[in-house]
Amino acid sequence: MADTASKTSLIERLKEICSPSHVLTEAQDLAPWLEERRGLYKGRASALIKPANTEEVASVVRLAAETRTPIIPMGGNTGLVGGQITEDERTILLSLDRMNRIREMDAANNTMTVEAGVTLQRAQEEADKANRLFPLSLASEGTCQIGGNLATNAGGTAVLRYGNARDLVLGLEVVLADGRIWNGLRGLRKDNTGYDLKQLFLGSEGTLGIITAAVLKLFPRPTARAVGFAAVKDVDAAVALLHFMEEKSGGAVTSFELVPRIGVEFVTRHIEGARDPLDAPSPWYVLVELSSGGESLALADTLTNALGQALEKDLATDAVIAQSEAQAEELWALRENLSDVQREEGGSIKHDISVPVSKMPIFMHRALEAVTKEMPGIRPVPFGHIGDGNVHFNLSQPEGMDKAAFLEKWDHFNRIVHGIAVELNGSISAEHGVGQLKRDEIAALKSPVEMDLMRALKRTLDPEGILNPGKVVKP
Ligand code: FAD
Repeated sequence: MADTASKTSLIERLKEICSPSHVLTEAQDLAPWLEERRGLYKGRASALIKPANTEEVASVVRLAAETRTPIIPMGGNTGLVGGQITEDERTILLSLDRMNRIREMDAANNTMTVEAGVTLQRAQEEADKANRLFPLSLASEGTCQIGGNLATNAGGTAVLRYGNARDLVLGLEVVLADGRIWNGLRGLRKDNTGYDLKQLFLGSEGTLGIITAAVLKLFPRPTARAVGFAAVKDVDAAVALLHFMEEKSGGAVTSFELVPRIGVEFVTRHIEGARDPLDAPSPWYVLVELSSGGESLALADTLTNALGQALEKDLATDAVIAQSEAQAEELWALRENLSDVQREEGGSIKHDISVPVSKMPIFMHRALEAVTKEMPGIRPVPFGHIGDGNVHFNLSQPEGMDKAAFLEKWDHFNRIVHGIAVELNGSISAEHGVGQLKRDEIAALKSPVEMDLMRALKRTLDPEGILNPGKVVKP
């Protein structure tokens, strides 16, 4: 009885802060927020609340602190590690949806200040309107939000040129666990006045504070892009081709993405209109995009010349260059659909590893050998951001195998693949974060000193443990 009464009074007080229509408690209203996209985690919550501004967020957090109620900041719910999901039914989900204003566009400073609920796609569009580029780019960009991107330190397809989310932020506004507001919205490229506090919150997955706004870095808008798709005989050749293309293009390589043969087969099988752009099959391909502020024709010439020389040097065995925007999109579709098509092929065990780029060939060799030895017939689909030393080393089930029986091996294959990445001084989570999926694994892999420092930060910034409890680190 006491519990029900206190829950009712908490909901009533939330309604006083945010107005009743922005406090959702009915099961059907909460349902979309209680499951993540891969269906790996199903959650619970007592309410989903949508504050209109930073002061309302601060009031909600003060109430949560007073009542020791867990609180999870929520962006577009596209996170892939269960970071936004909990089984604790006392939890308040705090959606930043309504905080979607562009507070300031300062094109002369190459910055814009946006609220956390602005979708990534809208942030890109607003930059474009001001003749600038906001370069973060992910397949989930129509749905994910800047707050979620910064909280997960998202990567994507342009990291090679512009860095990941952490590199694209100059200032932050954050609501702390006691409800105080830290206004660090400075648009400075140089500021050596002590600790870089914003870096604590970037990549902290809602466990140290709630990001409510950010000053984002903008760049000159490229006026030209050229996209090519090259066949390479192995991963060594792919890495050699990356460096060759960087040298020959004068640093214009924006994306350099690995696609395995099986990926092309999956996409052409399941995506209507998709086709293999090259005549003969090759074990591996790379998609390369150059961009610059010059002329399209000149950039296409640069790409044609560089790939021509790469063919002569045996770095590539065949290549095609998009002759139009439509063809560029067709080539990108071979890469962008790779996640989705794996679903059509049954169970898929995921990895998001990184190693130094120089170690990528040895990683791939060892990991492919290990998983195929472990389960003959398994279909590895390693793809992605090889230019950043990051691949999604995904494993599709053997044809005809029971999906559930295959997925039972998830942890087993994770141990094999992660073990090889760690031996090569790599990471088991390159861009998706830790959430609950990898929390215990990082605790086992990181040094005791590193884990002590992480726990000390959590205790200092969230002593009552109300912010996204149980994610990233255990107290
Ligand atoms: P959510 O899923 O809502 O939340 C993610 C985490 O951030 C949670 O822990 C949550 O509590 C926290 N959080 C959310 N908002 C805030 C806030 N305002 N303050 C503090 N904490 C907050 N990731 C990549 O890095 N690279 C990719 O290429 C990539 N591609 C993807 C493609 C697809 C199709 C999908 C579905 C996901 C992909 N992702 C990728 C995963 C990626 O993490 C996200 O899409 C995105 O960064 C998460 O943003 P979100 O708004 O959906 O956050």
